Amino acid sequence: MGDRYFPNEMPDYIPETTTTAVEETVTERNNKDSLTKLLSLPYNILSQRLKASALDLKDTVVRETWGMSGKRVKDYSLYTGALGTAYLLFKAYQVTKNHNDLKLCSDIIKACDSELLLLDILMRRLLKLRVTFICGRAGVCALGAVAAKHAGDGRLLDHYLAQFKEIRLPSDLPYELLYGRAGFLWACSFLNKHIGKETISASRKRAVVDEIIKAGRLTRNGKCPLLYEWHGKRYWGAAHGLAGIMLVLMDLELTPDEVEDVKGTLHYMIKNHFPSGNYPSSEGNKSDCLVHWCHGAPGIALTLAKAAEVFGDKEFLQAAMEAGEVVWNRGLLKRVGICHGISGNTYVFLSLYRLTGNVEYLYRAKAFACFLHDRAQKLVSEGKMHGGDRPYSLFEGFGGMAYLFLDILEPLEARFPAYEL
Ligand SMILES: [Zn+2]
Repeated sequence: MGDRYFPNEMPDYIPETTTTAVEETVTERNNKDSLTKLLSLPYNILSQRLKASALDLKDTVVRETWGMSGKRVKDYSLYTGALGTAYLLFKAYQVTKNHNDLKLCSDIIKACDSELLLLDILMRRLLKLRVTFICGRAGVCALGAVAAKHAGDGRLLDHYLAQFKEIRLPSDLPYELLYGRAGFLWACSFLNKHIGKETISASRKRAVVDEIIKAGRLTRNGKCPLLYEWHGKRYWGAAHGLAGIMLVLMDLELTPDEVEDVKGTLHYMIKNHFPSGNYPSSEGNKSDCLVHWCHGAPGIALTLAKAAEVFGDKEFLQAAMEAGEVVWNRGLLKRVGICHGISGNTYVFLSLYRLTGNVEYLYRAKAFACFLHDRAQKLVSEGKMHGGDRPYSLFEGFGGMAYLFLDILEPLEARFPAYEL
């Protein structure tokens, strides 16, 4: 498939037409390709097309990931498994208020929960179950609790919260977002946002923050205040590295010295990005090729945007916008999902739009979404774009694209799933 990304040949900015715009001539209309036409549509008309496409895709995702499963869950993760489908259904419910989506979402979470209980009983001493939001039990319990709250089922809500509070973190648990302590803390913040402020107590969260800060200070070098090792490397990106851990910490109460360490870590990263503006996937890695949420500028841009919002520091805003330029130029990836695909990269522009109010960022988000809407299914079927190892999953496949199309309907409310709160 050659390069990892398509050259971005979309115009830098096209103002939207309005219903009062002068009718284009037949020649002008014929000269425009379908993507350019989409890009000049008024937002409300484009939104309706994206919504219809998302709801169709959602039905396909459900059929492919759940309808043929025999209702037994093999992969319960949000990342590539059944919980990702439940997360998409919950989003669809929020958009359409269709209670069938909420019911199906709850059924899938119950199946994930049953599978986890079974695994827990069968393999307690053999297998450590994962504990994070994206890959483990915290995700099942937290999303289960929120869906139960929306369904008005107090008994089920209590069940999931009780299950969540039973989660114990193994002493050798890593610190990153996908499998580690940061991923458990993200689930705590998600619950406190959606259920109520003290759902997970400050002391429970503080104990985990202490462990993360202590470990980061132990591994640090002279220049970077916090560093973490995962599988022998000191990663920088959102999924396994500093960007994900710093983002989670910024959602929690920190002491002044911890705030300084978080800021110092981000300053260190900004100072040491590649000349291209992209970021290394790990400490000392010289290969400037990944522009993904998981590794590279996109995930780091979202964290820097968060830092600009939390600390009000111009340097973070500037760095977030510069990382956004990398995503615009090199982020039209040959994959559709949110982890390392165009859907995930689109969230960088939505985040920058929310932060700056600059409509050119909204245009860029729209441009990436229009590219997907116009071309993704065809490019995948022709083998010119990779459909993902789990082609309908939330993080690697069309599930993520459907989620983006629903999220972009209210651009100021859009949040990268399981990353931006
Ligand atoms: Zn990835």
